[in-house]
Amino acid sequence: MKKVGIALLGIALVALVLYSVRAPLGTALMGRALERAMSGSAIEALPDGLHVVLCGAGGPLPDPERSGPCVAVIAGDKLFIVDAGTAGARNLGPLGYPVGAVEAVFLTHFHSDHIDGLGELATLRWVNAGNTEPLPVHGPQGVDEVVAGFNVSYAQDEIYRHAHHGDTVAPLSGSGMTAVSHQQPTDGEALVIYDQDGVMVQMIKVDHRPVDPAVAYLFTYKDRSALISGDTVKSANLQQFAEGVDLLVHEGLAPHLVHEMNKAAVRTGNEVVARITVDIPDYHTTPVEAAEIARDAGVGHLLFYHVVPPTPLPGLEAAWLAGVDEVFDRYTLGVDGTGFSLPAGSSDILPLD
Ligand SMILES: [Zn+2]
Ligand SMILES: [Zn+2]
Repeated sequence: MKKVGIALLGIALVALVLYSVRAPLGTALMGRALERAMSGSAIEALPDGLHVVLCGAGGPLPDPERSGPCVAVIAGDKLFIVDAGTAGARNLGPLGYPVGAVEAVFLTHFHSDHIDGLGELATLRWVNAGNTEPLPVHGPQGVDEVVAGFNVSYAQDEIYRHAHHGDTVAPLSGSGMTAVSHQQPTDGEALVIYDQDGVMVQMIKVDHRPVDPAVAYLFTYKDRSALISGDTVKSANLQQFAEGVDLLVHEGLAPHLVHEMNKAAVRTGNEVVARITVDIPDYHTTPVEAAEIARDAGVGHLLFYHVVPPTPLPGLEAAWLAGVDEVFDRYTLGVDGTGFSLPAGSSDILPLD
């Protein structure tokens, strides 16, 4: 008993000492962590191949585990981003992917949750690496207007930052974005919109009506492929181009859970939420439908993103996935940071830490 008492006293004393030096200890740890963060990128550590990481796994509703839609695609040594949802750009650095290295952005459509982090992404890319060329932003028709609007909104910020930091940090030639507009392809057509250094990106029509245009993107690098759905109903056209891809990153909306939201809204007299929750299931894909696409197209792995509604309570992830296992079992329900590595010259599909 006496020994236990002495041990407890010892632990309490150590805790007290640590508590009293917490500020200098924290500062020292911060320095080490920053050195690690600034001394290299996760891209260098990846094998040659195609790699996909969710910088944002959520949709328009706030979710502590899932930021707005944002998919990072690393092909060889190049970093691309599909959609720029809230906090997507902020997540890149902590995940080890330098935002200053973003080569180009591809927008699937112009719903607010897919573009509301675009200004932040362009700004962070600009001042984190002193980029001297604006950020290229690819998209279907309409991208010119979206990009022009952001450029106007950020014009004053760009003047301030250049005046304060100068050309090394904020060269004016690299501020803002350049729109690269492509005519949405028709059904059955995959439009090659990027083909450089062995990386090919193809634009594919999906169905998110009344939102039109809306597209998916198929990335291929060497012998590996990944298809990112954007927002869509279950699309036969997407399924056609998903045939045999290694990784299908597909949106999902669980209608049975949205229906629960609707019932709560009706019970509490919230007319707006009651209406929204009736409207949204008709232009998204259910998790089971996405699993059917994965099964019927013979994809290697299905990664769910744009997870709607959020799943903040125990058991809700299982509820969201209800019925998926019976259709297709090679799937992952994404959160921010979930990623897969597709090394070139193999058929491996490896989870990224
Ligand atoms: Zn969306
Ligand atoms: Zn949408």
